[in-house]
Amino acid sequence: MSAPTPDTGDRGRMERVVNLAKRRGLVFQSSEIYGGLASCWDYGPIGVELKRNVKDAWWRDMVWSRGDIVGLDCSILMHPRVWEASGHIAGFTDPMIDCRRCKQRFRADHIGQLECPQEKGRHPGECAGELTEARQFNLMFKTFMGPVEDSANVVFMRPETAQGMFVNFENVLETQRRKLPFGIAQVGKSFRNEITPGNFLFRTREFEQMEMEYFVRPGDEAKWYQYWKQERFDWYVRLGIKPENLRLREHATDELAHYARGCADVEYKFPFGWSELEGIASRTDFDLRQHADASGKDLSYFDDETRERFKPFVIEPAAGADRATLAFLVDAFDEDEVEGETRVVLRLHPRLAPVKVAVFPLLRKAGQPEKAQEIFATLRPHMVAQYDQAGSIGRRYRRQDEIGTPFGVTIDHTTMEDGTVTLRDRDATTQERIHQSDLRAELMRRIWD
Ligand code: ATP
Repeated sequence: MSAPTPDTGDRGRMERVVNLAKRRGLVFQSSEIYGGLASCWDYGPIGVELKRNVKDAWWRDMVWSRGDIVGLDCSILMHPRVWEASGHIAGFTDPMIDCRRCKQRFRADHIGQLECPQEKGRHPGECAGELTEARQFNLMFKTFMGPVEDSANVVFMRPETAQGMFVNFENVLETQRRKLPFGIAQVGKSFRNEITPGNFLFRTREFEQMEMEYFVRPGDEAKWYQYWKQERFDWYVRLGIKPENLRLREHATDELAHYARGCADVEYKFPFGWSELEGIASRTDFDLRQHADASGKDLSYFDDETRERFKPFVIEPAAGADRATLAFLVDAFDEDEVEGETRVVLRLHPRLAPVKVAVFPLLRKAGQPEKAQEIFATLRPHMVAQYDQAGSIGRRYRRQDEIGTPFGVTIDHTTMEDGTVTLRDRDATTQERIHQSDLRAELMRRIWD
């Protein structure tokens, strides 16, 4: 688990993004009316669409668009032996230290990026307090299954979705008649009792992951490792992240798990420094072997052509949905000048934009609101659309720019004469006339092509 690399950063930008997220209904503090619950966040009406679009883009590109990957949706609670076999009970730990003065706990390997809670501008341990030795802290949340709260009934909230794919390997193989190479993908909640959560959505204790296990013939793993590193890097670029804000960081040999053949992180240049968005790991047959040994099941693959039986090797791209959402948000945030005014604009890729189109009558009379409502109703079943007739047209455009709506449709007196509407582009702020009967197809093309 890597720590953010310190960078000059731009904390002011981060604050502006957090403020916008709150002000426009993207993200709220969890349980805010009770003072909030640390590191837990609720996605508001606009944020839920953004995060859903991030997960849908991942699913569409990783599952639907390819022929070699199938999906899965596993339960969060799994048999405790899963976590024994996977190594999580023994080793899913972070080093933790305490300050003897303020009694706060910190992740030992993040001290250089953390601030002392007592003395601003200093790191923990640079105050009069004394730090304890580091000790290992297991990050898994525990709970009890059933009505008896004793140690025999302890279960864990999954700290990753990956194990669901490994324990279902045989089920998928048998029911889907797959041939290597093939993958199993899953999007879902994971839980980690992080010692020092923070940086808004970046590190939380409850989060969503988008993970895929790609099973390959042993000997082919180096080729597929290279492939998935490139593919996953390119995915963020295709969805609009500026390439100069992304990098691939290959792990040094001493950072690798003993079974791994390679591991690399896609990192994003957040305002708080370069930090991991996604890890791509070449994991050998470690996971299948561990579960085969512990469960007594075979978990191997039979190759009809070569008549060989073996355990496939695995390449795992593991991404965080909330971290990706934060990166798309931060990267899209921009301020520019339009008509002599500063505007805030989220330059989100149309596929990710929470609202795809806003419909406005220019005037609140002359049949324009009725016409606009009629057009709005034809678009609604196909995309998230909003209707707004309040205030000047410039103000209405600004409101949509702030939440990243890529297209604005205005109904004016010409519409009433010839059925054309104006179609405004968020980024260029240019407008063109288009016939209302072509509008839906044109919007679908601009969003999806
Ligand atoms: P880190 O080093 O930041 O703790 P990690 O290397 O432990 O992350 P993985 O176990 O590889 O992370 O998990 C895959 C992905 O899940 C990460 O790249 C990240 O996007 C996401 N993720 C992991 N932990 C968290 C968390 N506490 N909050 C939000 N997202 C997380």
